[in-house]
Amino acid sequence: MKEIVVLGAGESGTGAALLAQAKGYAVFVSDLGEISNQHRETLEKAGIPFEQGSHDKNRILSAQEIIKSPGIPDHVPLVIAAKELGISVVSEIEFASRYTNARFVAITGSNGKTTTTLLTYHLLKSAGLKVGLAGNIGTSLARQVIDDAFDIYVLELSSFQLDGMYEFKADVAVLTNITPDHLDRYNYRFENYVQSKFRILQNMDSQGSFITFLDDKVIRRELKEQQVVPKVLGVSHKERVLNGAYEGEGKMVFNTAEQVFSIPVDKLPLRGKHNEVNAMCAILAVVSLGVDQSVIAKSLGSFQNVPHRLEEVGVIHGVRYVNDSKATNVDAVSYALDSFEQPIIWIAGGVDKGNDYSELEELAYEKVKALICLGVDNGALIKAFQEKVDTIYESQHMDEVINIASEIADEGDVVLLSPACASFDLFKNYEDRGEQFKDAVQKLEENVAKL
Ligand code: ADP
Repeated sequence: MKEIVVLGAGESGTGAALLAQAKGYAVFVSDLGEISNQHRETLEKAGIPFEQGSHDKNRILSAQEIIKSPGIPDHVPLVIAAKELGISVVSEIEFASRYTNARFVAITGSNGKTTTTLLTYHLLKSAGLKVGLAGNIGTSLARQVIDDAFDIYVLELSSFQLDGMYEFKADVAVLTNITPDHLDRYNYRFENYVQSKFRILQNMDSQGSFITFLDDKVIRRELKEQQVVPKVLGVSHKERVLNGAYEGEGKMVFNTAEQVFSIPVDKLPLRGKHNEVNAMCAILAVVSLGVDQSVIAKSLGSFQNVPHRLEEVGVIHGVRYVNDSKATNVDAVSYALDSFEQPIIWIAGGVDKGNDYSELEELAYEKVKALICLGVDNGALIKAFQEKVDTIYESQHMDEVINIASEIADEGDVVLLSPACASFDLFKNYEDRGEQFKDAVQKLEENVAKL
C-alpha cells in the first residue's frame, strides 16, 4: 500500500498524520526543520515514522498523496516535482474535511481572520451548538475530526491553506477584506493572492451564504467578475445594505431574509472601525446558521479577544501603551492609526513583506508625532516617512524603544506598537514581540512606581 506523506510537522501536519493513521493509511512525516518536542512525542507515541532535518526525496515522491503544511511554499523543488509526477498535494483542511459531515464556517481575509473566527465561535457556542474551532487556531481540524464530536466547525483559513483546497465546501464563507500581504509567496502579483482568497467560494451551492465587506474595492470588483453561487450578505460602513449589515448612527443594523434587528456599537467588547466589520461578519455568519438575535445580543458582552491586537497594556503618566504586534501589514496599521484621536508615538518595522507605505503617509502626517523604527533594516520605513513625521528614531531593543517613547510622550499620547512587518529579524514571532513590549512597559511602570 502506498503511503500518505505529510510535509511539515507543525500542529496541522501532526494532526493530519494522526488522522491518516486513524483512517488506516500508512503515513510518513517529513520536516526539513526540527520538529518540536511536543509533536515529536505525539508521533513517537502513535508509532508514526518521521524524519527531521532532511527530506527523503525518493520516499516522498512515491507517495499516494502529500499533505503539505501551509508554511511550505508551492514553488519549492520538492513540491514542484511531486505535482509533475501527478501526486495530489493538498492542505490539512482539505484532507480533514473528507472525514466529517459537519458544517463549515470558513473565514478568510488579509486581516481580521482570528478576531472574526473567535467571535463567530463564541456566539455559536453561547447559542448551545456543538461547535469546534480550527484552522490556523489551536487544535488542527484533522486531529479533531478523528473523534468528530462537532456539528459545526469554524475555520480560520489563510490563503496558503486555501491554495491546497480543491473539494472542500463551505456552508458559510466570510471574506473580511483583501489587501496586499504575503506577496513574496505569490510571485509579487497581487492578482494571484486575490484569486487565492476567492477559493473560499469554490464548490459552494446556492444554500450557502457568502459574507463579505463591500467597502473593499478589490472585493467589490471581484464580486462582478467571479461567479458567486451562494447568497451574498454584504457588510458596509458607507451604504445601507439591504441584504447584510451596515453601521450607522452608532448602531449595527442587520437585514437578512431571516431576521431584522440592530445592536448598538457600544455593546461591542472590541474597539475600532475594523472590529465593527469583523463583528458584523461574525453576527451574519451565525444568523445564517439560525442563531437568534436575542442570543447574540446577550453573548456579545462576554467575548474576549486574543492578545496582541490593539491590546492596551498600561497607562503611565497619562500615556497609553497599546500592543498591536499582530499588525504585520499596512492595512492593519492603517486601522490602528485611525483608531486613536490622540497623538501617536508609532513603533514599526521588522521584516518588510513588500509593503507599499504610501497608503499610510497621510495618516502618519496627521497623527504620528514620532516614529520609532524597530528593525534590522529600517531603510524603507525611513524613506517613506522622513518627510511626514517630525522625528524618527531607530533601535533594535524593546527596552530602549520604550525608554525613548516614554521620554518623548506627553500626557494624553498613545504609544502604539503596530509594526506593518513580520517579526523574524529581531524576535521569535509576533507573540514574542508583543510580550517583550508588554514586559518593557511593565518594567517602566515599576521604575516609575519606585520614584
Ligand atoms: P488575522 O488573523 O487575519 O491576522 P487578526 O484578527 O489577528 O487578523 O488581526 C490582525 C491585525 O489586523 C490586528 O492588528 C488587528 O487590529 C487588525 N485588524 C483586525 N481586523 C481587521 C479588519 N477587518 N481590517 C483591517 N485590519 C484589521
